[in-house]
Order: sequence, then C-alpha cells, then structure tokens
Amino acid sequence: MATLRAATHNRVVCPDCDRVADVPVTSAEPYTCPRCGHGLGGGKAVDETTTLALALTALILALVSLLLPFVGYSANGVSQTMTLLDTSTELLHFHERLLAILVLFTVWVIPVLYLLAVLWIFSRLLLPGALGPVTLYFIRTVVQLRVWMMADVFLLGALVSLIKISGLAAIDLDSGFYTFIGFVVVLLLTGDRVSRYQLWHRLPHDNAPPSQVGRDATAQQRVGCVCCQAPNTLTASRCWRCGESMRLARWRGWRLTTALLIAAALLLIPAHLLPVMETTTLGRTQPNTIIGGVIELWQSGDAPIAIIVFVASLVIPVVKILTLLVLLWLAERRSETRTKQRLWLYKVTDWIGRWSMIDIFVVAVLVALVRSGQLMSVYPGNAALAFALTVILTMLAAMTFDTRQFFRTIDRNQEQQETAIE
Ligand SMILES: [Zn+2]
Ligand SMILES: [Zn+2]
Repeated sequence: MATLRAATHNRVVCPDCDRVADVPVTSAEPYTCPRCGHGLGGGKAVDETTTLALALTALILALVSLLLPFVGYSANGVSQTMTLLDTSTELLHFHERLLAILVLFTVWVIPVLYLLAVLWIFSRLLLPGALGPVTLYFIRTVVQLRVWMMADVFLLGALVSLIKISGLAAIDLDSGFYTFIGFVVVLLLTGDRVSRYQLWHRLPHDNAPPSQVGRDATAQQRVGCVCCQAPNTLTASRCWRCGESMRLARWRGWRLTTALLIAAALLLIPAHLLPVMETTTLGRTQPNTIIGGVIELWQSGDAPIAIIVFVASLVIPVVKILTLLVLLWLAERRSETRTKQRLWLYKVTDWIGRWSMIDIFVVAVLVALVRSGQLMSVYPGNAALAFALTVILTMLAAMTFDTRQFFRTIDRNQEQQETAIE
C-alpha cells in the first residue's frame, strides 16, 4: 500500500463507480475504469504550444465577435443591426437582469475566463519546476467552468431565431456572425485538448493517504476529490493534491438531487404556461408560449426546426427530470440489474441537458434583433427566466447525482449482514 513516489501511475477514485484505480501516466492508450468503463486518463499527450495557439485564437475571435455587427435585419424599409453584446443589453433594457447575466456569462464571459485560464496553465507548463497555487487554482477553474460554456448552444439558438424571422424580414449575416462560428469551433477544439487527467498527472503524488487499488473508496474510508479524483480521507476539508474543497464531494447524494429535481419540475409549469416572449405587430400584442412557438414553426413549414425546438424545450427537460428520479428510485431500492445501462442513461441525460437552453437564446436574439421597431417589436416574457432556471436546476441535479449508488449494492449487502449479526 505504498504511495506512488515515481509518477508512473496516478491513483484515482473513479467518479462514477467509486473504485480505486492506478492509471498509467504515460499510456498512449486511453485508460478506462475496469468496472464501469469511465475514461480515467491516458491517451495521446497534448503539446502545449498548439493548445496555446488554439486558446489564443479562440480568445481573439471571442473579443472580435462581441463587438462586430452580428446580424442585420430589414423589413418595409426599416433596417437594424445587432451585435452579440446586444443579446444581453436589450434584455437589461426590459429589466430581465438575471436572464441578461445568464446569456452573457454562458455565451461569452465563462468561455473567455476558461480560455484565459488555459493560456495561463499551458504557458506555465512550458516552464520547469513545480506548479504553484495560482496554476492549481486555474486548473480547478478550467474543470469547473467547462460545463457552463454554452456558445455552441447559442449558435444553434441564433440559427433557429433567424429561421423564425426570415419569413417577415430580410436577414443579413454580418462579419460578427462568421467570427462567432470560428470562435465556437476553435473553443471546442481547445476544450478537446485540455484533458484534466493529463494536467493532474503532473502534480506530486507523495502525500496521498494510503488506499488499496481494486476496492471501493468508501469501503476504505476514502472519498474521491470531485476535481482531480485523488483519494482523500473522509475528514479532509481540502483535497491534498489540488486544493479543491471536499465539501462538494460530500454534497453528492439523493437528498440534494431530489430537492433540485422537484424545484425544476415546479418551475417547468410556469415555464410552459406563461409567455416566453411577446410580439407586437402593428399595435397588436400577442403572447407566445414555448409550445405556441413550436406550432407556429411547424405551420410555417419549418418542420425540422420545429422538431429541434420541441425536443430541446419540451422533451429534454421532462425526460431528464423523470429519468433522474427513476434512477434515484432504483438506486434507493438497491436494484442490482443493468448497472452499466443505468450509468449510460445517466450520462446521456447529463450531456443532453444543456441543449434545452436553445429557446432562451432564441428569445435573446429575437429581442435584440427586432427591438422596439415601428412595425414590430419582441419583448421577453416571464416564462423565459423560469425556463432558464429549470435548465440550470436540472444541470445541478445531474451534477449532484451520486452514480456510485449504482455500484454500492455489494457493500450494502455486507453492511446488512453485519447489522443482522449485531
Ligand atoms: Zn468506474
Ligand atoms: Zn483534488
């Protein structure tokens, strides 16, 4: 049970099933958890210079896309242009502060912070010597921010809103739109190269509390860090390796997940009953619900877009809440069947959730583009914030969901036997 002195292996606790594993540091083959199949490391080493070049390119494209004209719109001799920044400032104009912050942060601020952190980390990796606390802080930031970057979802939302409005006005895609596409692509490429496992492998392994490979961490009074997966003692307040608070690892559990799911389900009611936006045409105001928007798209002949919005706004949130509740219930019933399939279902549900934000971005783009025109104006409705909060709550529910419960049956059976003997 000696700790690893030479960094040939990285001892981790699988975040999905709680099994302790030693991951070979230099393996070119991806290393997966022997029990649940979760990717734990390995893979081709990334060279720092290319990652730096990509991150820098993405950052420049982000700065340029914020200020250049994004899309132009003209109808009946009136023309208007919007920038990416207008999607937030126009929402502020209608006192939708939270919504404005949410759009600006998920689409632009968080990706930019992410890129700055990547630039810092990879420049530092080019230098010799141990990584300092600042670099560790940025590595933790990179891991945490990644989930909340939604520039790609926004791009799809922008395309949907342009198709929605194309019947009423002539649309001109401006330079900002093309640089934004470039930003999304390069951001995805950068994110793809930033493997958190390869980053953690560069940290010292000396202070790890003893643990046994091939057994559950919980059975050994250990808990995996949510950020770097290092085994920690149950009483540790911060991870010995990356410095992350261990409170987050302890928060995972059915109580918090259930509370978040119930809150999300309740918010889904106003999100669908209230108007998500209001359109005023020639003095007549018409409220639009999410489902109303889908029907309108369908009737105007945009069936594929109608299906995308229907799936993203109606199917995904409902299915996500129901799936997570059923998975929680199965875990609590100590069901041993189809553990791997349940884990797969959880992962799909978790991955797909962020795409529900499409409708929020459609509203943001339409409000910014149409503004208060003489012929037509679009205002954000009360459902928009409710719906955005539903999406965030279901994302948090998926994050706090404890997949380790799927694999705990054996330990629990032992526990039960022990209690029976007592
Ligand atoms: Zn595993
Ligand atoms: Zn850690």
